[in-house]
Amino acid sequence: MYGNTHLPCLFIDLEKIRHNTRVMVQRCHDAGIAVAGVVKLLRGSPEVAQVMREAGVDWIADSRLDNLARLEDCGLPRLLLRLPSPQQAGETVRHSEISLNSEAVTLRALSAAAGRAGRTHKVIVMQDLGDLREGCYDEAETLELARLVLQLPHLELAGIGANLACYGGVAPSPQNQQRLVAIAQRIRRDLSCDCPIVSGCNSAASFMLLDGTLPAGMNQLRLGASLLMGIGLNDNPIPGLVQDTLWLEAEIIELKNKPSVPENSTALDAFGHKPVFEDYGIRSRALCALGKQDVALADLTPHDAGIRIIGGSSDHLILDLTEASKRYQVGDSIAFSLGYGGVLACMTSDYIEKVYRY
Ligand SMILES: *Cc1c(COP(=O)(O)O)cnc(C)c1O
Repeated sequence: MYGNTHLPCLFIDLEKIRHNTRVMVQRCHDAGIAVAGVVKLLRGSPEVAQVMREAGVDWIADSRLDNLARLEDCGLPRLLLRLPSPQQAGETVRHSEISLNSEAVTLRALSAAAGRAGRTHKVIVMQDLGDLREGCYDEAETLELARLVLQLPHLELAGIGANLACYGGVAPSPQNQQRLVAIAQRIRRDLSCDCPIVSGCNSAASFMLLDGTLPAGMNQLRLGASLLMGIGLNDNPIPGLVQDTLWLEAEIIELKNKPSVPENSTALDAFGHKPVFEDYGIRSRALCALGKQDVALADLTPHDAGIRIIGGSSDHLILDLTEASKRYQVGDSIAFSLGYGGVLACMTSDYIEKVYRY
C-alpha cells in the first residue's frame, strides 16, 4: 500500500499545513500583526518552511541553531527563539538575522560577533509576563537592556517580546498583552528610539485573534502549533483550522487471542514498574513494531476508536483489537494521531521514517 515507505512512519500533510498557515496569516495580517512561522516541532523542516513562506509568513523561526542553519535559503529572515548563550554568539549572527535575548553578557558577545562578521544583528528583548520561563521579570531591567542594545555598535533594537503558556500555565490576556505594548511605548519615549516590534505571544493567543481582544500595538505573533497542528491554548482546536495534519503509522507483527491477565505475575516490567492488570477475558491482541524508544505511549491515539492501547515496552506496542472497527491482519498498518510531544519524539527518532504528502 505504501510502496517503499518503511513503517513506522510519520506522515506530514503539507497541503493541510498550507491551509492552516494561510488562514492564520490572513487573520493576523487583517489585525496588523506579522507572523513568525515556527518550525521547531518539525525539526526545522525546509519543506515546511517553504510552505509557510508561500502561505505568507513574514519570518521563519526555530529554537535551535542547528535547524536554522538548514534554513539559510528559505527566503525569509530567520528568528532564533531560544536565548543564545554567549558561546553561541558567532553561530547566532551567522544563522539568524534576529534573536530573542534577556542577558547583557550575551548581548555584548552578539555585538562583538556581528562586528567580526561585518553584520548588524537584530534583537528582541524579552519581558517575563509571569509565565516564569525567559525574560526580565522587572520592567526596569528590560529598559536597561534595550538601552544597552542601542549603545552596542553592531546590534539593532528590533523590539520587545514575551512568551506565555509554556512553563507556568499563564494564558495570554488583554491585560498582559497591553502591559507589553505599554513597555514598548515607554522604551520609545524614554530612549527616543523606534522599537518597532511588539512580539506578544505564541499559538496560545490564537483565540484572541478571533474574539478581537488583542490590543492595538501588539504586532507580531510567533506561531508553531497553530499552523502545524491547528491547536492553540491548552491544545484546543482552533476554529477554521484542520488538526489531522500529522499522523503515525506502525505495522502489526503479531495478532493472537490471549488472556488479559498474565499467569503468576510477580516480576517488574522492563521499565522497573509493577504492572497492574484488569481481567477482560480472552482478547484479540496485536503487537506493533513501535515502542517507548520511539514515542511515549500516552502521546498516541489510534484513529480507529475501537482500538485500545494496552501497553508496551521499548520496541513493542500492544493493542487490544477486539472492538476494532474492522478485521486486521499481520502486516496491516495502524494509524495514530499524536500530541505535541509525540510529534516532537517522532521527529527526533532515527527509527521513524518521515514522509511528506503534497
Ligand atoms: C516554541 C515557541 C513559540 C511557538 O509556540 P507554539 O505554541 O508552537 O506556537 C513561540 N515563541 C517561543 C519563544 C517559543 O519557544
